[in-house]
Amino acid sequence: MATCTRDGSWALLRVLGDLPGEIRVNEPLAPYTTFRIGGRAWAMFRPYGPEALAEAVVRARAHGFPWLVLGGGSKVLVPDQGFPGLVVLTSGLTGWHEEDDLLRVGAGAALPKVARHGLAKLAGIPGTVGGAVAMNAGTKYGAIADQVVWVRALLPSGRVHTFRPEECGFTYRDSLFRRVRLPVLEVGLRPVPGPAVEPLLAERRGSQPLNLPSAGCVFRNPTDAPPAGWLIDHAGLKGARIGDAVVSERHANFICNLGRARASDVLALVERIRARVEQLFGVWLTLELEVVGE
Ligand SMILES: Cc1cc2nc3c(=O)[nH]c(=O)nc-3n(C[C@H](O)[C@H](O)[C@H](O)COP(=O)(O)OP(=O)(O)OC[C@H]3O[C@@H](n4cnc5c(N)ncnc54)[C@H](O)[C@@H]3O)c2cc1C
Repeated sequence: MATCTRDGSWALLRVLGDLPGEIRVNEPLAPYTTFRIGGRAWAMFRPYGPEALAEAVVRARAHGFPWLVLGGGSKVLVPDQGFPGLVVLTSGLTGWHEEDDLLRVGAGAALPKVARHGLAKLAGIPGTVGGAVAMNAGTKYGAIADQVVWVRALLPSGRVHTFRPEECGFTYRDSLFRRVRLPVLEVGLRPVPGPAVEPLLAERRGSQPLNLPSAGCVFRNPTDAPPAGWLIDHAGLKGARIGDAVVSERHANFICNLGRARASDVLALVERIRARVEQLFGVWLTLELEVVGE
């Protein structure tokens, strides 16, 4: 991957400068991620509304700039060399409308807030609604796909399409929107009466290392083997450390940043875990964590 240059930054500023939103050039990405790791983007654009988001992506495509949409940055690892392109941040898209049995929310709405309005099974998952739909975020109690009524997303043609649930290609921690990179603008959700959120949050505090920066579970659970956390724990890797990246003692499928971890430390630890788990159990772990730009 190329390193960031100011040439790309200024070209993006020229292309997007008239759109309603904030634009920052040569912007460090670490503060926009829960891992607190990574280099700079050529430019970061925070649109004030869905139309500006759609127009920014359309223009980035038309001018051949690499681009990506970032929600809460709670599932991504940004490489140390950053992202040579445009990062579109959804945090300005927080529209919120409640009808009888439909909750209409903008892609940048905070998932923890939405969870308190009839999506209790997602309580404790950080990030945005758009990110949760893209990742089909979930817990042992179910995934967001169970309550999606429709998703409004931008097609490569520049048109906005309203997807029915069966068109969303939801699979375990994945969706069409992530696989073919369709920016989610707005989501219709069906709230259901559910359990109280507080006990679910307490359960997480007991089982996850919430005191340190991380990006949640690093590996997908294999379909035909015990969960990734079990395999990593039984490979004796809790506490394994490279630089400031460490395998959590509390939850073996979490890698935490002790303060100054670099993306290269995290990736080296990922490879060490994979090699050891494969050697002991014959299972090759695949990443749930998304490495930006790959
Ligand atoms: C402490 C901790 C606990 C976690 N626990 C869980 C858990 O229990 N279950 C779970 O599923 N996940 C969990 N996660 C992971 C993460 O919070 C979820 O995957 C979350 O839904 C990601 O949302 P985000 O907005 O942060 O997405 P981001 O990290 O910003 O993006 C993730 C992916 O979604 C894409 N994306 C983001 N927004 C959009 C959009 N509007 N349109 C199209 N694509 C978009 C990005 O391009 C990227 O590919 C946890 C993370 C942490 C740090």
